[in-house]
Amino acid sequence: MLGKYSLGIGDRFAKEGVFQLEAFVKAKKLGKDITPVWNKSYREHKTVGSKPSSVRKEADESVAKCSWKSGYLVDADHITIQTVEDFIPYSDFFTIDVANQIGHELTQSESKVFLEEYRHHIGNLDIQGIDETFEITEETLLEFGNKFYKAVKESLLIYQKIKEKRQGYFAVEVSMDEVEVPQTPLELYFILILLSKAGIPVNTIAPKFTGRFNKGVDYRGDLAAFEKEFEQDLLVIAHCVEKFDLPKDLKLSIHSGSDKFLLYPIINRLIKKHHCGLHLKTAGTTWLEELIGLAESGGSGLEMVKSIYAEAYSRFDELTVPYVTVIEVDKDQLPKIETVNSWEGNKFSETLRHDQKNSSYDSNFRQFLHTSYKIAAEKGDGFIEELEKNSEHIGRNVTENIFDKHINPLFI
Ligand SMILES: [Zn+2]
Repeated sequence: MLGKYSLGIGDRFAKEGVFQLEAFVKAKKLGKDITPVWNKSYREHKTVGSKPSSVRKEADESVAKCSWKSGYLVDADHITIQTVEDFIPYSDFFTIDVANQIGHELTQSESKVFLEEYRHHIGNLDIQGIDETFEITEETLLEFGNKFYKAVKESLLIYQKIKEKRQGYFAVEVSMDEVEVPQTPLELYFILILLSKAGIPVNTIAPKFTGRFNKGVDYRGDLAAFEKEFEQDLLVIAHCVEKFDLPKDLKLSIHSGSDKFLLYPIINRLIKKHHCGLHLKTAGTTWLEELIGLAESGGSGLEMVKSIYAEAYSRFDELTVPYVTVIEVDKDQLPKIETVNSWEGNKFSETLRHDQKNSSYDSNFRQFLHTSYKIAAEKGDGFIEELEKNSEHIGRNVTENIFDKHINPLFI
């Protein structure tokens, strides 16, 4: 089962599971139980050409090899009603993505029924720990309904589809993060009411937070605003768990959570202050460690990453468009192919590695390479052979990245 603290780990090519898990083993030795959750979305499977069964196989094999005795899960990440089916036999964590249904307005007759059903929420709302009083009017109630009612309805359809076919325990996440506008704590309150009413036993909820959560790089936004919103979200969840029919272990889930070094101290402090759990998803950060490890290995490993860069550079739009809401890359600021081809392995890895103190570090370069795993997938066996040949080097980077840069600042 999903523990109080859990970390989503993505592994595009299913080669680093053992090295990822070693970071959790290290945490366990320090007395910190963190549940590893291998996540892979439909989009990633499609890009790489893999199947959901491969994630289950990787997770089970890694757990056996490391003699990991605690819980672990396999997350069908960002599934929809169209894509859930193939994931059901292999997953025990389902991230139900209904972001696309947000803002589908109620018809006039639906509005009437809706208002009758939820009218008793109109009035002032006080939540323990939050200074301000929230005011819910008929107008705000209807606004929430127009935004979220159909999204929750859709979550229910997906949940029922899973429930029909899946026996035993599985964790349920509802994600609304891949949208333009963040959800306020009051909106989160209302979403939880709707989920509870729908009878969806949601374990983790992924709202969109304020600020930019770009892939693989640090948070960009107002830290004080994030802190206030995050703390209020924690308090809203505690309140809703007490008042409504929701699982006791319900907790926040942070997507695109890797490398948000500015936020980790805030998150660490607040989850401990309020005794809350947390799920944080990382994905591409391990793929970038593979590139770093290959570059540092020199020789054919370095040649491989240079050729991936050159190919990716010439297919810039194709690779970056699917990630447009979660990256900020300026093509004109990227190093030219000839420049990168002249680099030594260390120059490549220092430009890519997320170390803001290193003058070579380039977040533009890093975000761009985050999107270019499709090129590595196209290289097929040639790329996999390089990963295997240099696994010791890569593995060290993968474990260090998960433990030192994520688990340690977040949970320890
Ligand atoms: Zn997400």
